[in-house]
Amino acid sequence: MHDIEAAAELLGGVGVAKPEIEEAIRTLLTAFGEDACREGLERTPERVARMWDELLAGYRVDPYALINEAVFDVEYDQMVIVKDIEYYSMCEHHLLPFLGRAHVAYLPTDKVIGLSKIPRVVDLFARRLQVQERMTRQIADFLEAAIHPQGVAVVVEGLHLCSKIRGVKKSSARMVTSAMTGSFQTNELTRNEFLEHISRDTSAVSL
Ligand SMILES: [Zn+2]
Repeated sequence: MHDIEAAAELLGGVGVAKPEIEEAIRTLLTAFGEDACREGLERTPERVARMWDELLAGYRVDPYALINEAVFDVEYDQMVIVKDIEYYSMCEHHLLPFLGRAHVAYLPTDKVIGLSKIPRVVDLFARRLQVQERMTRQIADFLEAAIHPQGVAVVVEGLHLCSKIRGVKKSSARMVTSAMTGSFQTNELTRNEFLEHISRDTSAVSL
């Protein structure tokens, strides 16, 4: 089971309303002109409902509970960078996936967060209906509030299937969004150090 789902269950999250989703998918299939009862589609509503429960698990996880035991007091004032964090999210405009990599950095004040927790924080905000700009901002704002660092930087690259699979051919372009706070905003050297790190052998999203 996925980490985030496990955490969601621990927190007693109720999940999505599966019967309503199943009903809606049956309606959708019929509206497509399909026979919702034919063999291949018969169990589709049930599968889709289960899938949405997984894809939206991020709503049910308290981010503070997620990092709770992994925030440490440390005297360390160098940049902490976690790059190439894979994520999968759902575009709220089309209900289609967007996916890619996130790069997260912060300059600690007196607290650091366990390295393995940062990808989970990204995952938590990805597993919601999202727009990439907001997801980027939410990751930065949460880290800012959780460990009060000197600054946070988040850069997210995303390939949006809603633009890739529809119409225009040139749509494999990746979208890049960023959110910078504190010293990453005010100090050019700090910002450049981060940007240099993440531009080094960062492999492109492959599909
Ligand atoms: Zn979209």
